[in-house]
Amino acid sequence: MLLEVKNLRVHYGKVEAVKGVSLSLRQGQIITLIGANGAGKSSILKAISGLVRPSGGEVLYEGRRIDGQPPNRVVEMGIVNVPEGRRLFKLMTVRENLRLGAYLDRDSRRVADGIEEVFDRFPILREKQHQPSGKLSGGQQQMVAIGRALMARPKVLLMDEPSLGLSPKMIDEIAALIVELRKAGLSIVLVEQNANLALHLADHGYVLETGSIALEGPSDRLLSDPEVARAYLGA
Ligand code: ATP
Repeated sequence: MLLEVKNLRVHYGKVEAVKGVSLSLRQGQIITLIGANGAGKSSILKAISGLVRPSGGEVLYEGRRIDGQPPNRVVEMGIVNVPEGRRLFKLMTVRENLRLGAYLDRDSRRVADGIEEVFDRFPILREKQHQPSGKLSGGQQQMVAIGRALMARPKVLLMDEPSLGLSPKMIDEIAALIVELRKAGLSIVLVEQNANLALHLADHGYVLETGSIALEGPSDRLLSDPEVARAYLGA
């Protein structure tokens, strides 16, 4: 197992946002967490990233405990978050935003190569590299956010609502990209409110309800589950 979350708990003050969640990600796999607003999906990603400290449970990466490690250590180990809402520095150029994704890397040659690799993957970003990232379309900003994460040369990508606010055409592009990233060897934890999209991309799904896993299984099984269809697929 590449990444394992065991009985994870997250509190914000007295509010328990994650109430004992366990999940696992194998090398080359895509898993998805679906569920309504406030179900605790982002909190799980933040706990894995070291952005919030779990109040209970364990996070294991390549068999070693990483809960309690600071976020920069987690990035160095190969787990990188693509946050909800992109979180770009809007006044900085596309290129500068990408550069920040490799802030831990002192090898400027490798950083420059990384930027070229991102441009090869997203040619539109090469064209717009000197523009402030805030001037780009939502889809292009999502490409910058993903490109910035790739700059850290991750093994695991944690993606928080990559389809949020994008046009249907752009959602298709991001979906195709996620498939490509997996082919390139990445393992992905995908958080989505677009359950239909997420389950079509993922191997395995977890349905979260108010901080707990209500249901889990292979994506095709969840897609054909009448309860899931009614509650999450708009059927
Ligand atoms: P969303 O799609 O809205 O991000 P989510 O499933 O990712 O939803 P979380 O963001 O993890 O859910 O939130 C879970 C619960 O924790 C919610 O009740 C939320 O209000 C609460 N919460 C999240 N962040 C904080 C915080 N920093 N302080 C206090 N409560 C928080």
